[in-house]
Formats: sequence, C-alpha cells, structure tokens
Amino acid sequence: MKKETLAIRTQTERSQFNEHSVPLYMTSSYMFEDSEDMRAQFSEEKEGNIYSRYANPNVTEFIDKIALLEGAEAGWATASGMAAVFTTFGALLSNGDHVLSCKSVFGSTHRLFTEILPKWGINHTYVPIDDIDSWEAKIQDNTKILYLETPSNPGVDIVDLEIAGEIAKKHNLIFVVDNCFATPIIQQPLKFGAHLSIHSATKYIDGQGRTLGGVIVGNQDLIDEIQGFARHTGPCMSPFNAWVLSKSIETLPLRVEKHSSNALEIAKRLENHPAIETVKYPFLPSHPSYEVAKKQMAYGGGIVTFNIKGGLEAGKKFLDSLKMLSLSANLGDTRSIATHPASTTHSKLTPDERAAVGIGEGMVRVSVGLEHVDDIWEDIEQALG
Ligand SMILES: *Cc1c(COP(=O)(O)O)cnc(C)c1O
Repeated sequence: MKKETLAIRTQTERSQFNEHSVPLYMTSSYMFEDSEDMRAQFSEEKEGNIYSRYANPNVTEFIDKIALLEGAEAGWATASGMAAVFTTFGALLSNGDHVLSCKSVFGSTHRLFTEILPKWGINHTYVPIDDIDSWEAKIQDNTKILYLETPSNPGVDIVDLEIAGEIAKKHNLIFVVDNCFATPIIQQPLKFGAHLSIHSATKYIDGQGRTLGGVIVGNQDLIDEIQGFARHTGPCMSPFNAWVLSKSIETLPLRVEKHSSNALEIAKRLENHPAIETVKYPFLPSHPSYEVAKKQMAYGGGIVTFNIKGGLEAGKKFLDSLKMLSLSANLGDTRSIATHPASTTHSKLTPDERAAVGIGEGMVRVSVGLEHVDDIWEDIEQALG
C-alpha cells in the first residue's frame, strides 16, 4: 500500500467493542493470569505489556505506524523529541566514545553535545555541513556515531544522506538522522544507510501543537539497546499523547503535502520582494543544496527562512508587525508561526557566532501553516512593508 493508505489503514488495537477509531488505554499496569504468567512475562519468555513504562497498546500502535512509514524494523517512543535524542546517546554511547556531527543541529542537541554528554566523558567534533569531503579526516578511533539533522533547524541546511551513509558504512559508524523537519512522508533516511531516524513528534506528527512526543525508528539490534535503556530510565511516552499522535498520523501525508506547497509559494513570493536579502527553502533552485534536496526529499517541507534587509532591528520590527502569524517556539502546526532566532533562541551568541551557524541578524524562520496561502502572504507582505 501507499503511504496515504498505510497512515490510515493500519490500526492494530481494538477492544471487545470493535470500535472503528483506536481506543485509549489509560492504564499504568496490566494484570497477569497467574503466577506462572507473571514469571514468564517478566523473564521475557512471553510477550506482554506488564507496566506502561515498558509498553502500552497506544504507544505500541504509534511506534508501529511510524516504523511502517519509515520502512524500519522497530522503534521506540519517548516523552519528547529531546528524550528521543538523549535516549539514543544514553543507550548507545559509553565513557570515552566520540560523536561526529554538524553545528547546525537543534539548540538543545547542541547543549547535549557541549554541556551534558562531556560529563560522562563523551565528546564530539563538529564538521562543516557544506564540506562533506572534509569529514573523513575528523573521524577518530573512538568515533561511534555520525549524527546529522537534515533539513536543519533553523537554517534548513541539507546534508547528502547518500554520501553520509557511505562514510558511516566505510568507518563502521552508527548513522543517526534527526528527521523532524522532513517527516517520514518527505524523507526516509534508512533508505540512504541511516541506522536510526529520530523525530520530535511534537512538530509535524502532532501537527496541531497539542502534545509533546518523540520517536526513534531503525535497526532492531539498536532499538533493543535503546529499549533496554529507556525501560529502566523512564523517558516513556504517555498513552494519551500516543493516542493523539496516532490519530494525527492519519492526516500526516495530506498535511505535509499542503504545508510544502504553501511554503514553496511563500518562498517564491519572498524571493521577489525588495525588502528581502535572501530566502532559503530546500525546493528553491537558489538553495545551495537544491539538487541534493530534490534527490532525497519528496517535498520541500514547511519551513522557510529568510533574511530581511536591515539586520536585527528589521527582524524584530517584522515580528512586531505581524497580525496573523503567531510568535511561538513551536513549528509544524496548522497555524503559521514566525520566529527571529537572533533575538530569541540564539540571542546568547555573538553576531559572529550566529553567522558561523548560518543565522543572520535579520533572519526569520517561518513555519508555514495550513491557512490559505494568500492570507499568509498578505500578513507577511504587510509586515515587510
Ligand atoms: C523540536 C525539535 C527537537 C526537540 O523536540 P522536542 O519535542 O521539543 O523535545 C529536536 N530536533 C529538531 C529538529 C526539532 O525541531
């Protein structure tokens, strides 16, 4: 079946009422038939949910759907996207290990690399995202994971997953991709040699800004290690959030297609506006990695970034002039959202440091929503004015 059908026709859970829509299993634990059943489940001779930190029917249903859409063997769901990122590192890395990554990763992932993982003797090297030929020289004997985000947040930089997959294979690295901006509808990193694909389900998978969630899908042996770590450290997804997210998956293909067509149209109109210095969108021919984006992505996604002439003050003024677009930290919502990284998420960096991670002073990130594209544009245009 095609993705649109898989997203809808894969319900695995039904109760004795034979309901049409998946029921919600709000329970922290499950009963056993007798002491022998209990012994067998605890010793993993027999499958069972046992306790909702271990497994829950709604969470399992959610994981199975994402794994199916990504073409993955197995998966694990977590309380948030960052819980998924941290659980992956916590499960797979030990004292003395090293990670190769790029500076253009999500802000909290950058904090993990620079402030948290070093406490356990795990270090990293950032390689330039636009110079993949220089990466191999930075691989060390103790490098265990190649960790990439494409398209990246907030700069929508693109990494060639095929080449990265070849490097990982040659050097026997575990290749992990943060696939949050693309969703499984746009891009399936496992097809390009990634071993694990991670999502903040909070974003497009929820799609309406209601819940937090994270999910990791990929090779069974790695997921087994992640499951072992997560079951005993407790970053589990709530059954309620899993139920919301499972329902959301049914409309994910439709939403992603519309987010992408709206975003492409907004990007094109921005490119022709005199107040704009530069526009970055994966499916605009002016994107430095346009060819790579076309190769590995089905659509361009819903995020557009642009630099307004006039720098920091112009960026702030633009945000203050918006009437409909929300000023919010989320993305992937039905509602269009604008952020100004230089004065918010990246305000602690100097202008030079911001430039080094591709964030201009007047850079605005817009998560293009599902409102009518003309209404979105009207607001952006009047604010630019
Ligand atoms: C939001 C985000 C995360 C973190 O997800 P949370 O659900 O907020 O914890 C990780 N990676 C990317 C690319 C994101 O946009």
